[in-house]
Amino acid sequence: MLKFKYVHLYGNQTNTLDLVNIVVPEVQKYFPSIIIDLRRPVLSNINEIIAEALVSIRISNIMKPFSRQLEKEACHRPRLEDLVYEIRFPWTPASSNTYPHIGTFEDAYYKELILYDGFMMQRLLRTMINENETNTDHVHIIFEDRLVCTFSDEDWRYHARTIVSGVPSIISTTGVIEAPARPKEWYIKRMELAACDLHVDNERESSNEERLAMNKYLKYGDNRINFIVTGYVLQILFFFVTEGDPFCTDIGCRLYNAHWQEELIYSQLKTGNLCDKWFVAAI
Ligand SMILES: [Zn+2]
Repeated sequence: MLKFKYVHLYGNQTNTLDLVNIVVPEVQKYFPSIIIDLRRPVLSNINEIIAEALVSIRISNIMKPFSRQLEKEACHRPRLEDLVYEIRFPWTPASSNTYPHIGTFEDAYYKELILYDGFMMQRLLRTMINENETNTDHVHIIFEDRLVCTFSDEDWRYHARTIVSGVPSIISTTGVIEAPARPKEWYIKRMELAACDLHVDNERESSNEERLAMNKYLKYGDNRINFIVTGYVLQILFFFVTEGDPFCTDIGCRLYNAHWQEELIYSQLKTGNLCDKWFVAAI
């Protein structure tokens, strides 16, 4: 028996996913009896308090657990440009840099991806969902463009993550691109470009071989992401069906816990189905 009746999907800020035509109908195939609704992004039009909370959960040193991140900065107020970055996220050039409550600042150029602690973000988002919907009838899944990460006790460092399951669950659209490892060729090419002092963002694949390699991993704006995130929605729903253990060992199943982009594309697109074992559990 399913414990939940409603699934609430919150769109990502850049609105790049096709939730209406792809994600919802795909999920509904496996869970025909649940009611799915679409909602606005949670972290859009945020105030300074939420912006400050987001700055406070950034990870500046991936080798330290969250409790030790703030040691050196505990007594400092967040920098103005960091607050503005969060308020204006996703970063777009603005005609004016003056903000009524926090003043004027110089545009900062963020080259590196900013990492946020996934469990702390989950805790923050929990305060922003409707209290009447926090019981087990409801599953909240928030698509978020910021990159989340969680600390591992095994190798004592943070790892970028695609999903954080729980109340609410988070799917990081940036995590889909950045968290599962790309094919080895990609890293080799990146090293070669760096060695020749070429701009690494300017990937200049041209040969057939290189084009084939490109299909083995996802890029920003890749339409395949819609089918990939559908698989992550299923993994989150099975997290609740199975009480915390959704993953399947069959690489041809959408519940396979992919660590490589190639595995992810294979399990979500090449087969694009659940194995029988899990299909039975969903009904
Ligand atoms: Zn399976």
